[in-house]
Amino acid sequence: TDAVLEIRGLNVDYGLGEDAVHAIRDVDLTLHRGEVLGLAGESGSGKSTLAYGLTRLLPPPGVITGGEVLYHPDGGDPVDVLRMDHAALRRFRWAETAIVFQGAMNSLNPVHRISTQLTDVIKAHDPRGTSAARLARARELLHLVGISADRLESYPHQLSGGMRQRVMIGMALALEPKVVIMDEPTTALDVVVQRQILRQLVELRERLGFSVVFITHDLSLLVEFSDRIAIMYGGRIVEEAASADLYRDPLHPYSHGLLNSFPALRGPKRELTGIPGSPPDLRGMPSGCAFHPRCPHAMERCGVEVPVLGVPPDKSTTAHVAVDQRSPADRTVACWLH
Ligand code: ATP
Ligand code: MG
Repeated sequence: TDAVLEIRGLNVDYGLGEDAVHAIRDVDLTLHRGEVLGLAGESGSGKSTLAYGLTRLLPPPGVITGGEVLYHPDGGDPVDVLRMDHAALRRFRWAETAIVFQGAMNSLNPVHRISTQLTDVIKAHDPRGTSAARLARARELLHLVGISADRLESYPHQLSGGMRQRVMIGMALALEPKVVIMDEPTTALDVVVQRQILRQLVELRERLGFSVVFITHDLSLLVEFSDRIAIMYGGRIVEEAASADLYRDPLHPYSHGLLNSFPALRGPKRELTGIPGSPPDLRGMPSGCAFHPRCPHAMERCGVEVPVLGVPPDKSTTAHVAVDQRSPADRTVACWLH
């Protein structure tokens, strides 16, 4: 397998007992080596919870109630992140998987220079190197993310939001992780800067060979930059497909609605219709398919039975690639229409 991360049957609750809300339900998701996987869905659909859950960084009262997260190290046996001891987990979080969280650009320490913050990260994980070597590495990391070395002595407030975001990415890359998870790193930035940063990350991915999980509600960015997209609704993955397939032919009515809520950056113009209604309240999830109250195609069954994520029937009439060249797992959807 070329999987680097395999999430199987993941469940996450906030709270315990009767008050628990199920924020992630039975999520299966695979990140392949070298790919950019986009994760999209409206606010509250569970995107951040999934990212925190798979790295075991859930804030209380978040608890993982089931599932496994298999990490496949280069040439090694898979290990379940959810069962790692603290030492292994610490290594996994930095050296194997780096995370840039929502609002991370504001998490730089305002009283320290950029150079100090970068060299501290490098030092924390390799205390044996010389300070000159650490500074050289910090310089190299800034260069990687497109910031000139003379910014090393700047304080965070002297940098633009886009530059601070790039510094955070540089820090995330400090230990050459195999997986980089970015949770809406760019929403606070303007659209032009967002695209530049994402493009740069995709280029670095090709050069340095890591995989990316990119979380956003801007589906147009994902369509442009990711290889595959998983769509979340009410804590579940409702569709997963290659970006081009999802854009050309979204199968889940929710994916269809999401695509129509965003102006296309390229390709044919679509009418912006959006999705009527609002995301479900986790405390009172609709029965059956959580999307059915908002779905224009809802049938009786949709309000009764939860659709499972499965391979849809032959889509060869719309896909460019012949069916026999595609693996069965190429796309999945959880919808009774399919
Ligand atoms: P956004 O696009 O706004 O970032 P998201 O898809 O990342 O949304 P999450 O932040 O993962 O969504 O939240 C998923 C659900 O879990 C939401 O209904 C939210 O209210 C709930 N939730 C998140 N954090 C907590 C918490 N600390 N305690 C209780 N419920 C929480
Ligand atoms: Mg979030």
